Amino acid sequence: MKTEPSTRRDIPSVDEVLKTETALDAIDRFGRPVVVAAIRTALDSLRSRWSDDDKATGTVADVAADALAQVESDMRANVRPVFNLTGTILHTNLGRAILAEQAQDAAVTAMRQAIALEFDLESGKRGERDSLIRTILCELTGAEDATLVNNNAAAILLVLNTFALRREAIVSRGELIEIGGAFRLPEIMARAGAKLVEIGTTNRTHAKDYIEGIGAKTGLVLKVHTSNYRIEGFTKEVGARQLAEITSARGVPLAHDLGSGTLIDLSGYGLTHEPTVAESVTDGADLVTFSGDKLFGGPQAGFIVGRKDLIARINRNPMKRALRVDKIRLAAIEATLRLYSDPDRLAERVPTIRQIAYTQPEIAERAARVLPIVSDALGTKFFAKVETCDSQIGSGALPQETIASSCIAIRSAKKSGRALNALAAAFRRLPIPVIGRIADQSLILDLRCLEDEAAFAQNISAIAMPEPAARQSSTENTS
Ligand SMILES: *Cc1c(COP(=O)(O)O)cnc(C)c1O
Repeated sequence: MKTEPSTRRDIPSVDEVLKTETALDAIDRFGRPVVVAAIRTALDSLRSRWSDDDKATGTVADVAADALAQVESDMRANVRPVFNLTGTILHTNLGRAILAEQAQDAAVTAMRQAIALEFDLESGKRGERDSLIRTILCELTGAEDATLVNNNAAAILLVLNTFALRREAIVSRGELIEIGGAFRLPEIMARAGAKLVEIGTTNRTHAKDYIEGIGAKTGLVLKVHTSNYRIEGFTKEVGARQLAEITSARGVPLAHDLGSGTLIDLSGYGLTHEPTVAESVTDGADLVTFSGDKLFGGPQAGFIVGRKDLIARINRNPMKRALRVDKIRLAAIEATLRLYSDPDRLAERVPTIRQIAYTQPEIAERAARVLPIVSDALGTKFFAKVETCDSQIGSGALPQETIASSCIAIRSAKKSGRALNALAAAFRRLPIPVIGRIADQSLILDLRCLEDEAAFAQNISAIAMPEPAARQSSTENTS
Protein backbone atom coordinates (compact mmCIF):
# COMPACT_ATOMS: atom_id res chain seq x y z
CA MET A 1 0.00 0.00 0.00
CA LYS A 2 1.03 3.57 -0.60
CA THR A 3 2.15 5.56 2.43
CA GLU A 4 -0.70 7.65 3.69
CA PRO A 5 -0.22 11.38 4.26
CA SER A 6 0.71 11.98 7.86
CA THR A 7 -2.71 13.32 8.88
CA ARG A 8 -4.25 10.06 7.67
CA ARG A 9 -1.70 7.70 9.08
CA ASP A 10 -4.27 6.22 11.48
CA ILE A 11 -6.46 4.97 8.69
CA PRO A 12 -6.35 1.17 8.79
CA SER A 13 -5.10 -0.89 5.88
CA VAL A 14 -7.25 -3.35 3.95
CA ASP A 15 -5.22 -6.19 5.42
CA GLU A 16 -5.80 -5.05 8.96
CA VAL A 17 -9.56 -4.89 8.42
CA LEU A 18 -9.53 -8.29 6.71
CA LYS A 19 -8.14 -9.85 9.90
CA THR A 20 -11.12 -8.81 12.03
CA GLU A 21 -13.69 -11.33 13.18
CA THR A 22 -16.39 -9.33 11.37
CA ALA A 23 -14.54 -9.48 8.07
CA LEU A 24 -13.74 -13.19 8.43
CA ASP A 25 -17.41 -13.95 9.09
CA ALA A 26 -18.42 -11.82 6.13
CA ILE A 27 -15.97 -13.69 3.87
CA ASP A 28 -17.48 -16.92 5.08
CA ARG A 29 -20.96 -15.76 4.15
CA PHE A 30 -20.40 -13.79 0.98
CA GLY A 31 -16.95 -14.69 -0.37
CA ARG A 32 -13.70 -12.75 -0.40
CA PRO A 33 -14.02 -10.53 -3.50
CA VAL A 34 -17.11 -8.61 -2.41
CA VAL A 35 -15.80 -8.18 1.14
CA VAL A 36 -12.45 -6.82 -0.05
CA ALA A 37 -14.25 -4.46 -2.43
CA ALA A 38 -16.55 -3.24 0.37
CA ILE A 39 -13.60 -2.64 2.70
CA ARG A 40 -11.87 -0.61 -0.02
CA THR A 41 -15.03 1.46 -0.49
CA ALA A 42 -15.37 1.98 3.27
CA LEU A 43 -11.72 3.09 3.46
CA ASP A 44 -12.17 5.46 0.51
CA SER A 45 -15.13 7.03 2.20
CA LEU A 46 -13.16 7.33 5.44
CA ARG A 47 -10.32 9.04 3.60
CA SER A 48 -12.61 11.61 2.01
CA ARG A 49 -14.22 12.36 5.36
CA TRP A 50 -10.78 12.63 6.86
CA SER A 51 -9.78 15.45 4.60
CA ASP A 52 -12.99 17.32 5.37
CA ASP A 53 -12.71 16.93 9.08
CA ASP A 54 -9.47 16.00 10.78
CA LYS A 55 -11.31 14.77 13.82
CA ALA A 56 -13.11 11.98 11.97
CA THR A 57 -12.26 8.62 13.38
CA GLY A 58 -12.25 5.21 11.85
CA THR A 59 -11.07 2.25 13.83
CA VAL A 60 -10.47 -1.11 12.23
CA ALA A 61 -13.73 -2.29 13.80
CA ASP A 62 -15.67 0.69 12.41
CA VAL A 63 -14.44 0.05 8.90
CA ALA A 64 -15.22 -3.66 9.16
CA ALA A 65 -18.74 -2.90 10.40
CA ASP A 66 -19.30 -0.36 7.59
CA ALA A 67 -18.09 -2.84 5.02
CA LEU A 68 -20.27 -5.62 6.39
CA ALA A 69 -23.37 -3.40 6.37
CA GLN A 70 -22.63 -2.52 2.74
CA VAL A 71 -22.13 -6.14 1.69
CA GLU A 72 -25.30 -7.24 3.48
CA SER A 73 -27.31 -4.58 1.72
CA ASP A 74 -25.70 -5.28 -1.68
CA MET A 75 -26.19 -9.01 -1.40
CA ARG A 76 -29.76 -8.89 -0.16
CA ALA A 77 -32.05 -10.72 -2.58
CA ASN A 78 -34.15 -8.55 -4.86
CA VAL A 79 -36.99 -11.02 -4.60
CA ARG A 80 -38.19 -10.15 -1.13
CA PRO A 81 -41.36 -10.92 0.75
CA VAL A 82 -43.66 -8.01 1.57
CA PHE A 83 -46.83 -7.63 3.58
CA ASN A 84 -49.58 -6.95 1.06
CA LEU A 85 -51.90 -4.68 3.02
CA THR A 86 -53.13 -2.87 -0.08
CA GLY A 87 -56.54 -4.48 0.16
CA THR A 88 -56.08 -5.95 -3.32
CA ILE A 89 -55.89 -9.71 -2.94
CA LEU A 90 -54.51 -10.50 -6.41
CA HIS A 91 -52.12 -7.56 -6.74
CA THR A 92 -50.32 -7.87 -10.08
CA ASN A 93 -47.36 -5.77 -8.88
CA LEU A 94 -47.05 -7.90 -5.75
CA GLY A 95 -47.07 -11.23 -7.54
CA ARG A 96 -50.81 -12.08 -7.64
CA ALA A 97 -51.84 -15.39 -6.05
CA ILE A 98 -49.82 -16.97 -3.28
CA LEU A 99 -49.74 -20.73 -3.41
CA ALA A 100 -51.35 -23.39 -1.28
CA GLU A 101 -48.96 -25.42 0.87
CA GLN A 102 -49.70 -28.50 -1.23
CA ALA A 103 -48.65 -26.54 -4.33
CA GLN A 104 -45.46 -25.31 -2.63
CA ASP A 105 -44.57 -28.88 -1.65
CA ALA A 106 -45.18 -30.17 -5.15
CA ALA A 107 -43.03 -27.39 -6.60
CA VAL A 108 -40.20 -28.19 -4.18
CA THR A 109 -40.34 -31.88 -5.13
CA ALA A 110 -40.10 -30.93 -8.78
CA MET A 111 -37.08 -28.75 -7.99
CA ARG A 112 -35.29 -31.30 -5.84
CA GLN A 113 -35.78 -34.48 -7.75
CA ALA A 114 -36.11 -35.89 -11.22
CA ILE A 115 -39.79 -36.21 -12.09
CA ALA A 116 -41.69 -38.10 -14.78
CA LEU A 117 -42.35 -34.90 -16.70
CA GLU A 118 -42.59 -36.24 -20.24
CA PHE A 119 -42.18 -39.89 -19.47
CA ASP A 120 -44.86 -42.56 -19.49
CA LEU A 121 -44.14 -44.75 -16.47
CA GLU A 122 -46.46 -47.46 -17.81
CA SER A 123 -44.74 -48.03 -21.13
CA GLY A 124 -41.35 -46.58 -20.30
CA LYS A 125 -41.65 -44.47 -23.43
CA ARG A 126 -41.67 -40.77 -24.02
CA GLY A 127 -44.74 -39.11 -22.54
CA GLU A 128 -46.35 -35.72 -22.73
CA ARG A 129 -46.32 -32.95 -20.14
CA ASP A 130 -49.99 -32.07 -20.57
CA SER A 131 -50.97 -35.60 -19.56
CA LEU A 132 -50.05 -34.66 -15.97
CA ILE A 133 -52.98 -32.25 -15.72
CA ARG A 134 -55.36 -33.31 -18.52
CA THR A 135 -57.59 -35.74 -16.63
CA ILE A 136 -58.17 -33.60 -13.57
CA LEU A 137 -58.64 -30.44 -15.62
CA CYS A 138 -61.22 -32.17 -17.83
CA GLU A 139 -63.02 -33.49 -14.75
CA LEU A 140 -63.22 -30.07 -13.16
CA THR A 141 -64.30 -28.21 -16.29
CA GLY A 142 -66.28 -30.81 -18.25
CA ALA A 143 -64.04 -30.18 -21.26
CA GLU A 144 -62.83 -32.96 -23.59
CA ASP A 145 -59.20 -31.94 -23.53
CA ALA A 146 -56.86 -29.41 -22.01
CA THR A 147 -53.42 -27.87 -22.33
CA LEU A 148 -51.31 -25.45 -20.37
CA VAL A 149 -49.05 -22.57 -21.43
CA ASN A 150 -47.01 -19.78 -19.86
CA ASN A 151 -49.91 -17.44 -19.04
CA ASN A 152 -53.32 -16.47 -20.33
CA ALA A 153 -51.81 -13.91 -22.70
CA ALA A 154 -49.83 -16.78 -24.26
CA ALA A 155 -53.00 -18.90 -24.38
CA ILE A 156 -54.80 -16.19 -26.38
CA LEU A 157 -51.81 -15.68 -28.66
CA LEU A 158 -51.59 -19.40 -29.34
CA VAL A 159 -55.31 -19.82 -29.99
CA LEU A 160 -55.32 -16.86 -32.39
CA ASN A 161 -52.22 -18.04 -34.19
CA THR A 162 -53.52 -21.59 -34.51
CA PHE A 163 -56.97 -20.75 -35.89
CA ALA A 164 -56.72 -17.30 -37.40
CA LEU A 165 -53.25 -17.09 -38.97
CA ARG A 166 -53.75 -15.19 -42.26
CA ARG A 167 -57.46 -15.42 -41.55
CA GLU A 168 -59.98 -13.30 -39.71
CA ALA A 169 -60.76 -13.28 -36.01
CA ILE A 170 -64.06 -11.71 -35.06
CA VAL A 171 -64.35 -9.72 -31.84
CA SER A 172 -67.07 -7.41 -30.54
CA ARG A 173 -65.98 -3.76 -30.23
CA GLY A 174 -67.21 -3.88 -26.65
CA GLU A 175 -64.62 -6.54 -25.84
CA LEU A 176 -61.44 -5.14 -27.42
CA ILE A 177 -59.60 -4.95 -24.18
CA GLU A 178 -56.31 -3.63 -22.91
CA ILE A 179 -55.24 -5.62 -19.89
CA GLY A 180 -52.39 -3.43 -18.77
CA GLY A 181 -48.69 -3.99 -19.11
CA ALA A 182 -49.13 -3.22 -22.84
CA PHE A 183 -51.28 -6.24 -23.57
CA ARG A 184 -53.84 -4.99 -26.06
CA LEU A 185 -56.00 -7.40 -27.92
CA PRO A 186 -55.71 -5.69 -31.34
CA GLU A 187 -51.91 -5.72 -31.06
CA ILE A 188 -51.74 -9.34 -29.95
CA MET A 189 -53.97 -10.20 -32.91
CA ALA A 190 -51.57 -8.52 -35.32
CA ARG A 191 -48.60 -10.36 -33.82
CA ALA A 192 -50.50 -13.64 -33.98
CA GLY A 193 -50.92 -13.03 -37.71
CA ALA A 194 -54.68 -12.71 -37.44
CA LYS A 195 -56.77 -10.05 -39.12
CA LEU A 196 -59.03 -8.41 -36.58
CA VAL A 197 -62.62 -7.97 -37.67
CA GLU A 198 -64.41 -5.69 -35.25
CA ILE A 199 -68.15 -5.99 -35.10
CA GLY A 200 -70.91 -4.14 -33.28
CA THR A 201 -70.30 -0.95 -31.34
CA THR A 202 -68.65 -0.17 -28.02
CA ASN A 203 -71.84 -0.49 -26.04
CA ARG A 204 -73.99 -2.79 -28.16
CA THR A 205 -73.28 -5.90 -30.18
CA HIS A 206 -76.10 -8.04 -31.55
CA ALA A 207 -76.37 -11.59 -32.85
CA LYS A 208 -76.80 -10.23 -36.37
CA ASP A 209 -73.44 -8.44 -36.11
CA TYR A 210 -71.74 -11.80 -35.59
CA ILE A 211 -73.83 -13.47 -38.31
CA GLU A 212 -72.95 -10.76 -40.84
CA GLY A 213 -69.30 -10.76 -39.73
CA ILE A 214 -68.70 -14.48 -40.21
CA GLY A 215 -67.55 -15.31 -43.74
CA ALA A 216 -65.31 -17.61 -45.75
CA LYS A 217 -62.16 -16.09 -44.26
CA THR A 218 -63.24 -16.36 -40.62
CA GLY A 219 -60.86 -18.51 -38.62
CA LEU A 220 -62.18 -17.86 -35.16
CA VAL A 221 -64.75 -15.97 -33.15
CA LEU A 222 -63.31 -14.70 -29.89
CA LYS A 223 -65.44 -13.73 -26.94
CA VAL A 224 -63.58 -11.87 -24.20
CA HIS A 225 -64.74 -11.54 -20.64
CA THR A 226 -64.40 -7.81 -19.99
CA SER A 227 -62.82 -8.45 -16.67
CA ASN A 228 -61.20 -5.11 -15.95
CA TYR A 229 -64.04 -2.76 -16.85
CA ARG A 230 -67.76 -2.72 -17.24
CA ILE A 231 -69.88 -1.01 -19.86
CA GLU A 232 -73.07 0.17 -18.24
CA GLY A 233 -76.26 1.79 -19.43
CA PHE A 234 -77.67 1.14 -22.91
CA THR A 235 -75.76 -2.08 -23.56
CA LYS A 236 -76.13 -5.38 -25.32
CA GLU A 237 -73.81 -8.31 -25.65
CA VAL A 238 -74.36 -11.74 -27.10
CA GLY A 239 -73.98 -14.39 -24.40
CA ALA A 240 -71.74 -17.41 -24.87
CA ARG A 241 -74.65 -19.81 -25.35
CA GLN A 242 -76.34 -17.82 -28.12
CA LEU A 243 -73.00 -17.11 -29.74
CA ALA A 244 -72.10 -20.81 -29.67
CA GLU A 245 -75.29 -21.59 -31.63
CA ILE A 246 -74.29 -19.06 -34.27
CA THR A 247 -70.67 -20.26 -34.59
CA SER A 248 -71.36 -24.00 -34.49
CA ALA A 249 -74.03 -23.69 -37.21
CA ARG A 250 -71.35 -22.07 -39.38
CA GLY A 251 -68.51 -24.40 -38.46
CA VAL A 252 -66.35 -21.67 -36.92
CA PRO A 253 -64.61 -22.29 -33.58
CA LEU A 254 -65.65 -20.09 -30.67
CA ALA A 255 -62.95 -19.24 -28.13
CA HIS A 256 -63.98 -17.70 -24.83
CA ASP A 257 -61.30 -15.84 -22.88
CA LEU A 258 -62.54 -15.82 -19.31
CA GLY A 259 -59.56 -13.81 -18.04
CA SER A 260 -59.50 -14.57 -14.37
CA GLY A 261 -61.56 -17.67 -14.76
CA THR A 262 -62.90 -19.55 -11.80
CA LEU A 263 -63.57 -23.25 -11.37
CA ILE A 264 -66.10 -22.72 -8.59
CA ASP A 265 -69.18 -20.60 -8.07
CA LEU A 266 -67.92 -17.63 -6.06
CA SER A 267 -71.40 -16.64 -4.96
CA GLY A 268 -70.82 -19.15 -2.17
CA TYR A 269 -68.30 -16.62 -0.80
CA GLY A 270 -70.63 -13.66 -0.99
CA LEU A 271 -69.45 -12.47 -4.40
CA THR A 272 -71.49 -11.87 -7.55
CA HIS A 273 -71.79 -14.97 -9.66
CA GLU A 274 -68.96 -15.05 -12.17
CA PRO A 275 -69.31 -17.50 -15.07
CA THR A 276 -67.27 -20.60 -14.25
CA VAL A 277 -65.10 -22.41 -16.75
CA ALA A 278 -67.49 -25.39 -16.67
CA GLU A 279 -70.44 -23.08 -17.46
CA SER A 280 -68.63 -21.63 -20.44
CA VAL A 281 -67.89 -25.16 -21.70
CA THR A 282 -71.53 -26.16 -21.19
CA ASP A 283 -72.66 -23.00 -22.97
CA GLY A 284 -70.83 -24.33 -26.01
CA ALA A 285 -67.54 -22.45 -26.15
CA ASP A 286 -65.18 -24.64 -28.18
CA LEU A 287 -62.15 -23.36 -26.30
CA VAL A 288 -61.93 -21.55 -22.96
CA THR A 289 -58.81 -19.75 -21.77
CA PHE A 290 -58.06 -18.48 -18.26
CA SER A 291 -55.18 -17.54 -15.93
CA GLY A 292 -53.39 -19.70 -13.38
CA ASP A 293 -52.49 -16.94 -10.93
CA LYS A 294 -55.78 -15.09 -10.64
CA LEU A 295 -58.90 -16.55 -9.01
CA PHE A 296 -57.64 -20.09 -9.54
CA GLY A 297 -54.97 -19.31 -6.94
CA GLY A 298 -51.95 -21.00 -8.49
CA PRO A 299 -48.72 -19.95 -10.19
CA GLN A 300 -48.57 -17.95 -13.41
CA ALA A 301 -49.96 -20.11 -16.22
CA GLY A 302 -52.57 -20.07 -18.96
CA PHE A 303 -55.14 -22.83 -19.30
CA ILE A 304 -56.77 -23.78 -22.57
CA VAL A 305 -59.60 -26.30 -22.28
CA GLY A 306 -62.07 -27.45 -24.91
CA ARG A 307 -62.70 -29.65 -27.93
CA LYS A 308 -60.25 -32.48 -28.50
CA ASP A 309 -59.75 -31.81 -32.21
CA LEU A 310 -59.03 -28.14 -31.56
CA ILE A 311 -56.61 -28.80 -28.67
CA ALA A 312 -54.84 -31.28 -30.98
CA ARG A 313 -54.37 -28.49 -33.55
CA ILE A 314 -53.02 -26.19 -30.84
CA ASN A 315 -50.56 -28.88 -29.79
CA ARG A 316 -49.29 -29.17 -33.36
CA ASN A 317 -48.53 -25.44 -33.53
CA PRO A 318 -44.72 -25.04 -33.22
CA MET A 319 -45.34 -21.92 -31.11
CA LYS A 320 -46.67 -24.15 -28.34
CA ARG A 321 -43.11 -25.25 -27.60
CA ALA A 322 -42.02 -21.67 -27.02
CA LEU A 323 -44.88 -21.01 -24.62
CA ARG A 324 -44.75 -24.11 -22.49
CA VAL A 325 -44.78 -24.19 -18.70
CA ASP A 326 -41.78 -25.39 -16.72
CA LYS A 327 -41.90 -28.41 -14.44
CA ILE A 328 -41.96 -26.40 -11.21
CA ARG A 329 -45.10 -24.51 -12.07
CA LEU A 330 -46.66 -27.58 -13.64
CA ALA A 331 -46.22 -29.42 -10.34
CA ALA A 332 -47.81 -26.54 -8.44
CA ILE A 333 -50.70 -26.34 -10.91
CA GLU A 334 -51.43 -30.04 -10.60
CA ALA A 335 -51.41 -29.87 -6.79
CA THR A 336 -53.72 -26.83 -6.81
CA LEU A 337 -56.11 -28.53 -9.26
CA ARG A 338 -56.36 -31.53 -6.93
CA LEU A 339 -57.48 -29.25 -4.09
CA TYR A 340 -60.49 -28.30 -6.22
CA SER A 341 -61.70 -31.89 -6.01
CA ASP A 342 -62.59 -31.09 -2.40
CA PRO A 343 -64.54 -27.81 -2.61
CA ASP A 344 -65.49 -27.85 1.08
CA ARG A 345 -61.90 -27.38 2.15
CA LEU A 346 -60.87 -24.96 -0.60
CA ALA A 347 -61.12 -21.88 1.57
CA GLU A 348 -58.94 -23.55 4.15
CA ARG A 349 -56.26 -24.54 1.68
CA VAL A 350 -56.12 -22.12 -1.24
CA PRO A 351 -54.91 -18.73 0.06
CA THR A 352 -56.70 -16.74 -2.67
CA ILE A 353 -60.06 -18.29 -1.81
CA ARG A 354 -59.32 -18.06 1.92
CA GLN A 355 -58.52 -14.35 1.67
CA ILE A 356 -61.71 -13.73 -0.30
CA ALA A 357 -63.65 -15.66 2.34
CA TYR A 358 -62.53 -13.76 5.47
CA THR A 359 -65.53 -11.87 6.80
CA GLN A 360 -65.44 -8.28 7.94
CA PRO A 361 -65.97 -9.20 11.65
CA GLU A 362 -63.06 -11.67 11.44
CA ILE A 363 -60.80 -8.98 10.00
CA ALA A 364 -62.06 -6.45 12.58
CA GLU A 365 -60.91 -8.80 15.36
CA ARG A 366 -57.53 -9.02 13.70
CA ALA A 367 -57.43 -5.21 13.49
CA ALA A 368 -58.22 -4.87 17.19
CA ARG A 369 -55.25 -7.13 18.00
CA VAL A 370 -52.90 -5.32 15.62
CA LEU A 371 -53.87 -1.73 16.52
CA PRO A 372 -51.91 -1.45 19.80
CA ILE A 373 -48.82 -2.86 18.10
CA VAL A 374 -49.01 -0.29 15.33
CA SER A 375 -49.79 2.55 17.73
CA ASP A 376 -46.79 1.66 19.87
CA ALA A 377 -44.48 1.67 16.90
CA LEU A 378 -45.79 4.99 15.58
CA GLY A 379 -45.07 7.20 18.58
CA THR A 380 -46.84 10.53 18.86
CA LYS A 381 -46.62 12.13 15.43
CA PHE A 382 -49.23 9.81 13.97
CA PHE A 383 -52.37 8.27 15.32
CA ALA A 384 -53.96 5.04 14.22
CA LYS A 385 -57.44 3.63 14.55
CA VAL A 386 -59.49 0.75 13.28
CA GLU A 387 -61.90 1.59 10.47
CA THR A 388 -63.94 -0.27 7.91
CA CYS A 389 -62.75 -0.29 4.32
CA ASP A 390 -63.29 -2.09 1.04
CA SER A 391 -60.97 -4.74 -0.31
CA GLN A 392 -60.98 -5.80 -3.93
CA ILE A 393 -59.99 -8.97 -5.70
CA GLY A 394 -57.69 -7.36 -8.25
CA SER A 395 -56.07 -8.48 -11.49
CA GLY A 396 -59.25 -7.56 -13.30
CA ALA A 397 -61.33 -10.13 -11.47
CA LEU A 398 -64.80 -8.82 -10.62
CA PRO A 399 -63.73 -5.15 -10.93
CA GLN A 400 -66.98 -3.72 -9.66
CA GLU A 401 -66.98 -5.91 -6.64
CA THR A 402 -65.71 -4.75 -3.27
CA ILE A 403 -65.56 -6.86 -0.13
CA ALA A 404 -66.12 -5.22 3.24
CA SER A 405 -62.96 -5.33 5.30
CA SER A 406 -61.23 -3.73 8.27
CA CYS A 407 -58.13 -1.60 8.28
CA ILE A 408 -55.78 0.37 10.45
CA ALA A 409 -56.08 3.96 9.23
CA ILE A 410 -53.07 6.10 10.14
CA ARG A 411 -53.25 9.89 10.05
CA SER A 412 -50.55 12.43 10.63
CA ALA A 413 -51.10 14.68 13.66
CA LYS A 414 -50.18 17.62 11.41
CA LYS A 415 -52.54 16.52 8.63
CA SER A 416 -49.61 16.67 6.27
CA GLY A 417 -49.58 14.69 3.04
CA ARG A 418 -45.81 14.79 3.03
CA ALA A 419 -45.65 13.24 6.49
CA LEU A 420 -47.98 10.51 5.31
CA ASN A 421 -45.83 9.77 2.26
CA ALA A 422 -42.76 9.67 4.51
CA LEU A 423 -44.54 7.23 6.78
CA ALA A 424 -45.54 5.02 3.85
CA ALA A 425 -41.88 5.04 2.78
CA ALA A 426 -40.79 4.06 6.31
CA PHE A 427 -43.18 1.11 6.14
CA ARG A 428 -41.65 0.11 2.82
CA ARG A 429 -38.15 0.23 4.35
CA LEU A 430 -39.00 -2.32 7.04
CA PRO A 431 -37.12 -5.65 6.96
CA ILE A 432 -40.29 -7.07 5.43
CA PRO A 433 -41.70 -4.05 3.59
CA VAL A 434 -45.32 -3.26 4.47
CA ILE A 435 -47.31 -1.97 1.51
CA GLY A 436 -50.50 -0.05 2.21
CA ARG A 437 -52.38 2.57 0.26
CA ILE A 438 -52.92 6.29 0.76
CA ALA A 439 -56.51 7.48 0.66
CA ASP A 440 -58.50 10.19 2.45
CA GLN A 441 -55.33 11.68 3.99
CA SER A 442 -54.66 8.35 5.67
CA LEU A 443 -52.29 5.50 5.23
CA ILE A 444 -54.64 2.55 5.03
CA LEU A 445 -53.41 -0.89 6.06
CA ASP A 446 -56.16 -3.29 4.98
CA LEU A 447 -55.73 -6.40 7.12
CA ARG A 448 -57.60 -8.84 4.87
CA CYS A 449 -54.38 -10.44 3.66
CA LEU A 450 -52.47 -10.26 6.97
CA GLU A 451 -52.24 -13.88 8.05
CA ASP A 452 -49.02 -13.88 10.08
CA GLU A 453 -49.68 -11.38 12.86
CA ALA A 454 -46.65 -12.44 14.92
CA ALA A 455 -44.27 -11.80 12.04
CA PHE A 456 -45.98 -8.48 11.39
CA ALA A 457 -45.58 -7.41 15.04
CA GLN A 458 -41.91 -8.34 15.14
CA ASN A 459 -41.28 -6.62 11.82
CA ILE A 460 -42.99 -3.34 12.66
CA SER A 461 -41.04 -2.90 15.89
CA ALA A 462 -38.05 -2.13 13.63
CA ILE A 463 -39.71 0.89 12.02
CA ALA A 464 -37.54 3.98 11.75
CA MET A 465 -40.03 6.80 12.08
CA PRO A 466 -39.54 9.57 9.55
CA GLU A 467 -38.05 12.81 10.79
CA PRO A 468 -40.44 15.78 10.67
CA ALA A 469 -38.47 17.39 7.83
CA ALA A 470 -38.04 14.19 5.85
CA ARG A 471 -38.68 14.69 2.19
CA GLN A 472 -39.89 11.53 0.62
CA SER A 473 -41.86 11.38 -2.53
CA SER A 474 -43.84 8.26 -3.03
CA THR A 475 -47.01 7.03 -4.52
CA GLU A 476 -48.62 3.90 -3.25
CA ASN A 477 -49.54 1.71 -6.15
CA THR A 478 -52.69 -0.26 -5.60
CA SER A 479 -53.56 -1.26 -9.12
C1 LIG B 1 -55.68 -11.08 -16.95
C2 LIG B 1 -56.33 -11.30 -18.27
C3 LIG B 1 -55.59 -11.80 -19.35
C4 LIG B 1 -54.11 -12.07 -19.26
O1 LIG B 1 -53.84 -13.12 -18.40
P1 LIG B 1 -52.34 -13.38 -17.89
O2 LIG B 1 -52.44 -14.72 -17.23
O3 LIG B 1 -52.02 -12.27 -16.97
O4 LIG B 1 -51.47 -13.40 -19.08
C5 LIG B 1 -56.25 -12.01 -20.54
N1 LIG B 1 -57.57 -11.73 -20.67
C6 LIG B 1 -58.30 -11.24 -19.66
C7 LIG B 1 -59.76 -10.95 -19.87
C8 LIG B 1 -57.72 -11.02 -18.42
O5 LIG B 1 -58.43 -10.54 -17.40
